Amino acid sequence: MSKIVVVTGGVVSSLGKGIAAASLGLLLKSRGFRVTIQKLDPYLNIDPGTMSPFQHGEVFVTDDGAETDLDLGHYERFTNASLTRSHNVTAGQVYDSILSRERRGDYLGRTVQVIPHVTDEIKKRILGLGLATEADVLIVEIGGTVGDIESLPFLEAVRQLKLEHRREVVFVHVTLVPFIKAAGEVKTKPTQHSVKELREIGIQADILLCRSEVALDSEVREKIALFCNVPTEAVIAATDVKSIYEVPLVFHEGGLDDLVVEMLGLPDKGVMPPDLSAWQSFEARVTRPRRQCEIAIVGKYTHVRDAYKSVIEALVHAGSANDARVHLRWVESSEVEARGAAAVLGDVDGILVPGGFGERGIEGKVAAVRHARETGVPFFGLCLGMQVATIEFARSVVGWADANSSEFDPQSEHKVIDLLADQANVTDKGGTMRLGAYRCALRAGSLAARAYGRPEIEERHRHRYELNNKYAQQLTSRGLVLSGKCVGRELIEIVELPDHPWFLAVQFHPELKSRPQDPHPLFRDFVRAALERRVARVGDDNYDSAVERVVEKAEA
Ligand code: GLN
Repeated sequence: MSKIVVVTGGVVSSLGKGIAAASLGLLLKSRGFRVTIQKLDPYLNIDPGTMSPFQHGEVFVTDDGAETDLDLGHYERFTNASLTRSHNVTAGQVYDSILSRERRGDYLGRTVQVIPHVTDEIKKRILGLGLATEADVLIVEIGGTVGDIESLPFLEAVRQLKLEHRREVVFVHVTLVPFIKAAGEVKTKPTQHSVKELREIGIQADILLCRSEVALDSEVREKIALFCNVPTEAVIAATDVKSIYEVPLVFHEGGLDDLVVEMLGLPDKGVMPPDLSAWQSFEARVTRPRRQCEIAIVGKYTHVRDAYKSVIEALVHAGSANDARVHLRWVESSEVEARGAAAVLGDVDGILVPGGFGERGIEGKVAAVRHARETGVPFFGLCLGMQVATIEFARSVVGWADANSSEFDPQSEHKVIDLLADQANVTDKGGTMRLGAYRCALRAGSLAARAYGRPEIEERHRHRYELNNKYAQQLTSRGLVLSGKCVGRELIEIVELPDHPWFLAVQFHPELKSRPQDPHPLFRDFVRAALERRVARVGDDNYDSAVERVVEKAEA
């Protein structure tokens, strides 16, 4: 069986458990082990697909079309893997399968209970993934915070796993060691309590990852070790860093991978110490770039940065590929509606319109696209961004003033974006969009084909509406280039404008496949075009950390 590392979190949420799990994955992978990472989410939704981005952040879509937790994005980016539906298990899925079995009569005569039925189902999904992936190490992150009522069945399941497979399971607990200004020192009590809470349900943490603002001295680590019943070397400081990409390096310094290898009795794969040089040079380009540009993201959830997690990361990767810092200017589309595109977007080097749902904010996005098209600012549209770009073109260039998507205006005469028959009859909201990876053929010589350097690609989708083929002919005759077509289905996947420095929009979500070691070609070329725009606009694109402080201040 796979060895298992369970990652739990204590004290408060948002401690970066997902990044911690992903970082450990990267370290073990760099030591030659086959690693995979699974997220267990204690909520009752079947998946996050029906939740608002305000509540849950981005929905990360896998190749096989699962709508999953955004932590899977970190896992994929850090371990350079492609994950599946089985990598994200929710309490909703667990109960759903047990209840269907109960109705079928599989438990006839018995009472169905949390222990053993729910816990058995959870264990089956953990062990099953280990078997299916043949991983040497399966990292299992449990969502939520220790002490939540909802996470109890998951913790009970992993407690049993440890009992059944003593030498194969290690518990890593991510906690907070806050610095209290009034006392002038860090406090270990919250960590002690959280570890105690785990112990009360039968789990002894083996390794503590202690998040803190300041470095932890040996005295503090010894104290935590003593009160939490772990060896001092298992108290690893996770001091705040500038970029999430530094975290694996910090953990490696702290000895995390050595400790896990030793505790699990993993065989030496001959890759000791791990080769992190490629990661280090990527990280150095992220934190110490030579160039810079500023890109506006015109969206609707701009106050919830988690809603755009993969877009942000893809721009970091693309920045690194161009040796540049990409400053992000977050623009609410309502602000473009209120103040006008030129006032809000007149001094940026690129404009990106990301995915989204619903009518609110659409006109601001249309205005942003028009500004980009008319003034030559590089433009990149993602999913909804492509639909809006098509609407804008149909209105301003073709001259159909009422052009729209049936999602926003079912009465419009020119529904250039519309539902296809297979979506029109769908009544369920959950899991019914066009989801997951589809192949796409690129038009030779197009901006897209040049960026990818290949005639055919595969990208992930999450949407209901499509460009209406009825209008394809009229749109192209006025200059819109349809440069990507779905293989095997008459669906338009990419539109672009040839008489523009860089104007391209895609029906899929390229951000989901960008990796630090393998930046997405469209994001890379978009940022390159933005850097050129910057040189034309202000004379150079030299990195200036002062700009960063100004942008950060404006954001705060
Ligand atoms: N709302 C649009 C659709 O459903 C776009 C979706 C998206 O941007 N992910 O087609």
